[in-house]
Amino acid sequence: MSDDCLFCKIIRKEIPSDVVYEDEDFFAFRDIKPQAPVHVLFVPKAHIDTLNAVEGKNAILVGKMFEKIKEVASSEGIAEEGYRVVANCGSSAGQEVLHLHFHLLGGRNLKWPPG
Ligand code: 5GP
Ligand code: ZN
Repeated sequence: MSDDCLFCKIIRKEIPSDVVYEDEDFFAFRDIKPQAPVHVLFVPKAHIDTLNAVEGKNAILVGKMFEKIKEVASSEGIAEEGYRVVANCGSSAGQEVLHLHFHLLGGRNLKWPPG
């Protein structure tokens, strides 16, 4: 946990969020500025800055997170029609919050390539 990280504060519930899923390792909540009818952010509770820092034990955690993402896609009703999972890494990709997160987007037709 990092004291001044926005997503660590959300995980600690110092900042309110619309929680979709929580267990001892992961936290998922609705994006404050949704880009699709379903837009859920998945974060590991352990503070990891970016995908560049994923290695060893963290990599196992990130792999497990995809199992939860898949389950939430199903409970949100978008598993069959399809969805997108995005991780922005670094400034060129537009990463705003330096706590590793995956965007689950769905509920509409998503264009490709992304902007
Ligand atoms: P990034 O650009 O870093 O990949 O994505 C950060 C995401 O966090 C953005 O989609 C943004 O809308 C979302 N976000 C930023 N601040 C908050 C907040 O306080 N609460 C919630 N729920 N989402 C936030
Ligand atoms: Zn953090």
